[in-house]
Amino acid sequence: WSSSDSVISTDSAGEHSAEPGRPYRVVLLGASGVGKTAFASIFAGAADSMDSDDCELCGDEVTEKEIEVDGEPASITLIDTWDSETDSECMYERYMQTGDAYLLLYSITDRASYLRASELRITLRRFRPAQNTPIILVGNKCDLVRRREVSVSEGRACAAVFDCKFIETSAAMQHNVWEAFRGIVRQLRLRRDSKEA
Ligand code: GDP
Repeated sequence: WSSSDSVISTDSAGEHSAEPGRPYRVVLLGASGVGKTAFASIFAGAADSMDSDDCELCGDEVTEKEIEVDGEPASITLIDTWDSETDSECMYERYMQTGDAYLLLYSITDRASYLRASELRITLRRFRPAQNTPIILVGNKCDLVRRREVSVSEGRACAAVFDCKFIETSAAMQHNVWEAFRGIVRQLRLRRDSKEA
């Protein structure tokens, strides 16, 4: 019974998944207000709840769901973390150790959140020194064109430095959000296939 990674509950773990093994654990990381809850709501299929600010109160959300990517089903446990800048660094560390893949979000309207994403990437590298952990840097809120503080090329450059993929999204417009989820599944499969080879 040594279940060192059971800190993140997957209470429906008994459910059969079409992917071999357990669902992929995908963790949403990023500063407060960048759109993690909005992403999780879209994933959960409750896009209208996106304006609610309740997330601050209820802590982390975990949603498990099967999605189809390239004609093949994939089970994902999505973990929506809340911001760690205050006193919960150790909790972030827990996610850094237990995720299979990470969506690292910032808001294109908030340069501080972009810098925070870099910090989180560095922390992630400390916990996951193996190069093959799938990570996508996500520049969210790309609908807010006039409030843009981080250019597309800065986002791309940051992803290149940190050796991860990059995508700009708008949770408000539901633009590229599923593309980000699909991208992470594709990377997880590539990693799985290269392990099996
Ligand atoms: P979290 O703190 O990272 O979970 O951020 P939330 O998902 O709670 O989002 C913070 C605020 O930004 C909320 O008012 C959302 O409605 C809003 N928001 C999230 N994503 C977008 C987006 O893509 N575009 C716009 N315009 N607003 C967004």
